[in-house]
Amino acid sequence: MRRVVCPGSFDPVTNGHLDIIGRTSRLYDEVVVAVLINIEKQSLFTVEERIEMLQAVTREYGNIRVEKFHGLLVDFCKQQGIPAIVKGLRAVSDFDYELQMAQLNYRMSGVETLFMSTNPEYSFLSSSRLKEIARYGGDVSGLVPDLVHKSLVERLRG
Ligand code: ADP
Repeated sequence: MRRVVCPGSFDPVTNGHLDIIGRTSRLYDEVVVAVLINIEKQSLFTVEERIEMLQAVTREYGNIRVEKFHGLLVDFCKQQGIPAIVKGLRAVSDFDYELQMAQLNYRMSGVETLFMSTNPEYSFLSSSRLKEIARYGGDVSGLVPDLVHKSLVERLRG
């Protein structure tokens, strides 16, 4: 079985993430979406909430499994028997960091990293910017699935 991992914080999942996950799902037998547990970073949604949203919005692809992980991504890959990581690249600003991570991960473990270019429709989109806009009452519909939009509005309304 050809398996690959799409890692991230997904706080929350955006249409930019979904575009990468969906396109990757057509190339592999199974895509494992791995949600990073980062206790040092404050998040808007809990890991379990993020997992639930991801499961709901990726169900239609049929070959997505959502998991969580902490520690090194390459250790998660080894445990799960996953030989490659797929990352979305939005702009040159992503590249410098991602190239170093990819080289480090390969050096540590032999796990490969493949880059997929973002859909230009979403190249400006990140979860952090999305939250910032939503927090100040900006319209983010069209940037996230409806279900996520609803949860975002509810959460930010407090
Ligand atoms: P964010 O930067 O949105 O907070 P994550 O840490 O959850 O994202 O990102 C997980 C992965 O998704 C990363 O590889 C990131 O480059 C990719 N990604 C995030 N947003 C987009 C987008 N709009 N288009 C393509 N890839 C994206």
